[in-house]
Amino acid sequence: MNKVDTKNKRIGIYPGSFDPITNGHIDIIKRAALLFDEIIVLIGFNMEKEGRFDVKTRYKMIKEAIKENNLDNVTCDYYDGLTLDYAKKHNSRFIIRGLRVVSDFDYEWSYAASNEFIDPSIEIVFLMAKKENTFISSSSIIELAKNKVDVSKLVPSYVNEVLKKAFNK
Ligand code: ADP
Repeated sequence: MNKVDTKNKRIGIYPGSFDPITNGHIDIIKRAALLFDEIIVLIGFNMEKEGRFDVKTRYKMIKEAIKENNLDNVTCDYYDGLTLDYAKKHNSRFIIRGLRVVSDFDYEWSYAASNEFIDPSIEIVFLMAKKENTFISSSSIIELAKNKVDVSKLVPSYVNEVLKKAFNK
């Protein structure tokens, strides 16, 4: 890392709601961390629309997961605006997305097209989900946790603790 010229650093932005972060996201982050000098996990949020967890909690969940997985070249941030604007401000032109199922592709296709319309110099890098992670989504985790299913193998440890507290397991 120290040998990298900061001006020419290849920074990948991984945007999402991460509400909460799951092991599916972690797998994408780990693999992206091998492809780029630095990864910024970017919590996209909307002032007018509340998530399941507030941004501070989601941020803490991601920070703890980065620590737990020793991801030295990964940081976390949050932004209420276009990922493209954030990327520009942080000298990045790479956006990372994960693909699980065909329905993800539908959404990602129009996401990529609208980003290309705004700024064609941005490159969106898609990583395929690992087979065993294709059923993991933030909302499925919440459903399982609410129904007292053990999700400890599907989420980072700190997220599991928060879920246990939230759903009184
Ligand atoms: P968004 O609301 O932007 O879809 P998410 O937090 O749900 O935010 O997801 C962020 C990114 O991670 C998306 O590209 C999504 O497809 C991807 N992703 C989510 N879950 C998984 C998973 N289990 N495996 C691989 N990629 C995933």
